[in-house]
Amino acid sequence: MNANRAPHIALKVDVDTLRGTLEGTPALLELFARHDIFATVLFSLGPDHTGRAIKRAFRPGFFAKVQRTSVVEHYGLRTLLYGTLLPGPDIGRRGAAVMRETRARGHEVGIHTWDHTLWQDNVSKKDAAWTAQQMQLAYDRFLEIFASAPSTHGAAGWQMNAAALKVLDRWQLAYASDGRARSAAEGAYRISLDGAAPLACIQMPTTLPTLDELIGVDGMDAAGASARLLEITAQFRRDHVFTLHTELEGAKLKPAFETLLLGWIKQGFRLGTMREQYQTLDAALLPVRRFDYGSVPGRSGELMLAGATIA
Ligand SMILES: [Zn+2]
Repeated sequence: MNANRAPHIALKVDVDTLRGTLEGTPALLELFARHDIFATVLFSLGPDHTGRAIKRAFRPGFFAKVQRTSVVEHYGLRTLLYGTLLPGPDIGRRGAAVMRETRARGHEVGIHTWDHTLWQDNVSKKDAAWTAQQMQLAYDRFLEIFASAPSTHGAAGWQMNAAALKVLDRWQLAYASDGRARSAAEGAYRISLDGAAPLACIQMPTTLPTLDELIGVDGMDAAGASARLLEITAQFRRDHVFTLHTELEGAKLKPAFETLLLGWIKQGFRLGTMREQYQTLDAALLPVRRFDYGSVPGRSGELMLAGATIA
């Protein structure tokens, strides 16, 4: 990073559900417009099967998370029944107008996933054919909605596999944000699978914790979580990728998120899209890291983590 340039925080907005598309996205667009901010918004383009995520209730860590963040309060009962007692609605069909409006307002748009629940629960153990088929469904729907190819991808639940990373190269994406950094001191990297030559698509991992990962830790409320994030960015004055969700920051966490945005502006950060930040990167100078999985505080299960540096 150029020492003379103000550090940049890319705002990566994940949209997981139909409700998050139809209600949370417009709420965030209104907030961004008020502050003249542009973000990267990644859409779930196929069926909303959030209800099936209830199966996660039987996994360790889920009950603690429900207690801390009140899943029903944030997602709504209806969403929690999609794919179980109610059929899963097609987000790409029902939400196409909101998606196009997002791009029309100047935000970068990209692919989050086809079926969030299916991807998040399965991709780490599925083969290349299954993976490519799921990704193709999302790609085709994106083309149908936007009449142009996506510029970027950010995996649902930060879940990827090696085959999925290769698909990003076949799509000729220059950059993606599929996983997490190990700390706020790390940033973009190129990824090597099994020690092979690095893939072309640069990984710009999420470098900061999400608000919902911090809420409830040491009794922190939403305002406390915003304050904690501002402490982290005061300490690590460098480029970051921050992930938020329309279901959360576009709803109950909106006041805390607005406080956070204003705090970052006061700290001298520029806020914007992944594309803006990508354009300041020099691929030849980035570390090459292995593909790895691991856990992050405040989130259950394992996800894609920046692996050991090999070059
Ligand atoms: Zn997601």
